[in-house]
Amino acid sequence: MKKPQSALPQRLHYPDDEKHLPWLAALLDGYAIADAGVAIAIANEIKRRKKRLACGKGCGSCCETQKDVPLYPHELVGIYWYVMEKMATPEREGLKSRLASHAAGLPCPFLIRGSCVIHPLRPLGCRQFNVFGSRCLPDEDPFFTRRGGVLTPLVEYTDRAFAAVISFYDTNEKNAAAAVRDIRAQIFNLQTFDWKKLAANISQKEKAG
Ligand code: SF4
Ligand code: SF4
Repeated sequence: MKKPQSALPQRLHYPDDEKHLPWLAALLDGYAIADAGVAIAIANEIKRRKKRLACGKGCGSCCETQKDVPLYPHELVGIYWYVMEKMATPEREGLKSRLASHAAGLPCPFLIRGSCVIHPLRPLGCRQFNVFGSRCLPDEDPFFTRRGGVLTPLVEYTDRAFAAVISFYDTNEKNAAAAVRDIRAQIFNLQTFDWKKLAANISQKEKAG
């Protein structure tokens, strides 16, 4: 699901798209802040716990078991953009059927052959979900089986990640903390979200050639 980082992760850049999509630049800034916070929190916890991070490449059963990954409107727009504009055509076609048939209770539709196909634009909740000690067992949701082994994200970085995307929202709030609270109140659930509209958009794109 996520990769351990020895140095602070780099912000992703899509310069041509960011030129005409200011929200995308804000979203990528926000994710870079969140990823830095995760890397710092992991390094601190490895020292404190004297345990290694369990998460790593090729490990993703949490993407099948988790039932409540938070998703916010700016992240949703980012996922739509990535799927429609950046994903290779065969990969997008493979995703379409997953999205069209997705229902609550099924594994995340973006997990295909053990990999997250929207990894660069995966939501904050996925970025921040990390576990220490042993890798999760199949069907294990460590949030419930060993809450103490799950990383607690650094609040300051989470708040800054949300503050970075305030411009995406039509808010009259002058106070950043209040604006962040407003954004966080607009939460969806990735697993129960209706992804059929995105599947339909993919079909339309295929027809348009
Ligand atoms: S160890 Fe658990 S939480 Fe971490 S990537 Fe693997 S399945 Fe997910
Ligand atoms: S979007 Fe889905 S597949 Fe990707 S990391 Fe999150 S839960 Fe896993």
